[in-house]
Amino acid sequence: MLPVLEAETRILNLTQPLDPQQDVEWVPLHAAAGRILAQPISSKLDFPHWDNSAMDGYAVRRADVAACSADAPTTLTVIEEIQAGYRPQQTVQPGQAARILTGAMMPPGADAVVMQEEARRAGDRVQILAAPKLHQFVRRQGEFYQAGDRLLPAGIRLGAPEIAVLAAAQSVQIPVYRRLRVAILSTGDELVSPDQPLQPGQIVDSNQYALAALVAEAGAEPLPMGIIPDQPEALQQAIAQAVAQADVVLSSGGVSVGDYDYVDRLLEALGATIHIRSVAIKPGKPLTFATFATNAQSSTTYFGLPGNPVSTLVTFWRFGLPSLKKQSGLAAGWGPDWIVGRSPHDLTADGKRETYCWGTLRLNGGEYEFSQSPGSFSSGNLINIAQTNALAVVPLGQTRIPAGTAIQILQTGHVAIAPS
Ligand code: AMP
Ligand code: MG
Repeated sequence: MLPVLEAETRILNLTQPLDPQQDVEWVPLHAAAGRILAQPISSKLDFPHWDNSAMDGYAVRRADVAACSADAPTTLTVIEEIQAGYRPQQTVQPGQAARILTGAMMPPGADAVVMQEEARRAGDRVQILAAPKLHQFVRRQGEFYQAGDRLLPAGIRLGAPEIAVLAAAQSVQIPVYRRLRVAILSTGDELVSPDQPLQPGQIVDSNQYALAALVAEAGAEPLPMGIIPDQPEALQQAIAQAVAQADVVLSSGGVSVGDYDYVDRLLEALGATIHIRSVAIKPGKPLTFATFATNAQSSTTYFGLPGNPVSTLVTFWRFGLPSLKKQSGLAAGWGPDWIVGRSPHDLTADGKRETYCWGTLRLNGGEYEFSQSPGSFSSGNLINIAQTNALAVVPLGQTRIPAGTAIQILQTGHVAIAPS
């Protein structure tokens, strides 16, 4: 049994990202949200594109007004009005000013803006009541970004701020990594799909649906491959087909030590290298991780997840998702979202494996508070993992974390603020 952290490291080391040249597709900007940038982006434009005013006021030559004050104002002649979106028509000469509005281009000759609250206008004259500093209220060309520099690096997920930057840079076709294809298969003679009548002894295949939801949430494309019976030939054929079609294969069930657990044996028969067979995690001990070398550069990863519905979810969150993130081209931040919080109750474990307790995490008075789900804590109970958003970790070797102790918590969903 491999310790959890070692398993995570081993999996991530063996996961190869998509190729930034071959695995790229160009998508229109409006379809780029949530995708991962495959190539760095730069712009031919400076930001700001030209010197512009940060205030409504008057563009002046600082030398003209360097000595003025409210008691001794300087009077200038207003030569034009410049709104945002217009190009100034004249050069500001000594003794002159231009009326200017926020965001408008600075006229040649002017080197500072006096805000209108420090000016007194009368016809085509303006009295300046305070001496500005050089470049006061002027946003200088290139102050935020200089043309040719890197605007966005490759390997980031595009959210609203990045989309805004791309739009401002007039990038309308964006190079993003293609979506990973993730094959999902459920193994077990006892399984029936949710739309079939349930016979005594049968189990409904929930994992196929849970995994498809997780894969889609991660921005990848789920390829559901249905239920495969515990028959070596059928299973081998299904695995071979999945490996041929997908970048990642997720199977659930059949990786334990039972009489009908064939997955590991078939993976070896198909030429895979098995790197992990079991991990010291609860729930989820029988976890298989293997790779198929598809060519010199890339390989297909295979996760044989345990069949218990809660084990499937927990092992996917803990090991599958980080690997998927790395493989999809994300340059960093593959690991889970960890939070430190406290529970008002003791957390208990058997001490033999790193234990993940599912429950609800909330922000309460500025602190993260974790409450374990009510009801049975069995890996076969999938009912009480619904509507949870976190997994609290009891480390290997520990049997009890007393209430109020700082605990490591893996966030699986949105965290709300506790109602007061
Ligand atoms: P296994 O890992 O194949 O021994 O399965 C462990 C337990 O999980 C058994 O009780 C299975 O019936 C159950 N199980 C396996 N696959 C699924 C699935 N796809 N959906 C729901 N339960 C499952
Ligand atoms: Mg089974």
